[in-house]
Amino acid sequence: MESPGPLAVSHLFYPNKMVRIVLLAMEEVMGRNGVNAVLNLSHLRHLVNNFPPNNFDRQISFDEMGGLMHALDEMYGPRSGRGLALRAGRACFKYGLKEFGPVLGISDLAFRLLPLNMKLKVGANVFAETFNKFSDQMVKIDDAEDRFIWNITQCPVCWGRATDQPCCHLAVGILQESLYWVSGGKNFDVQETACIACGDEACTIVVDKKALD
Ligand SMILES: [Zn+2]
Repeated sequence: MESPGPLAVSHLFYPNKMVRIVLLAMEEVMGRNGVNAVLNLSHLRHLVNNFPPNNFDRQISFDEMGGLMHALDEMYGPRSGRGLALRAGRACFKYGLKEFGPVLGISDLAFRLLPLNMKLKVGANVFAETFNKFSDQMVKIDDAEDRFIWNITQCPVCWGRATDQPCCHLAVGILQESLYWVSGGKNFDVQETACIACGDEACTIVVDKKALD
């Protein structure tokens, strides 16, 4: 059984807008009743049928976000929970793009005309900056020759959790969909290789720059 990790108390927050995006994405994947059941099982009962407002106020703690992801696994089991979190992550990107795309310039023609390798590079940095600027999630990118290494040093997805396997599937799904969008419909190998919930220093997601198809 998973038990809360030692760092369960968080003074780190996600803005309402990002939590709203996560819940809309979960609703798309699981239906309203599914989301409400997960919210009920977590410490976010007050959000049942009452999603956060669409603003940048940092009001949902990392404890609550980690608890939400934990509740998803509790309810469906780790295997199905993983599948749902990956799909919800992919849906998050779509809602996120609508909210943040115009602000960040990645919906512009100039961005779309860049060659793929530059689009991946610029896109990854812009995407990391979005989290660093608007939330307490900290992302640092290592740009290696053949891969991007996406390091999350303050991670809401697994906050307070202790798992045997990396569990930030929501983050993996978001990256998968962002790569799909940036590349105009290609799939990439995206693996979480280290996770704070497993005792690692950061949640590390490795993206192979060469598309699978
Ligand atoms: Zn994590």
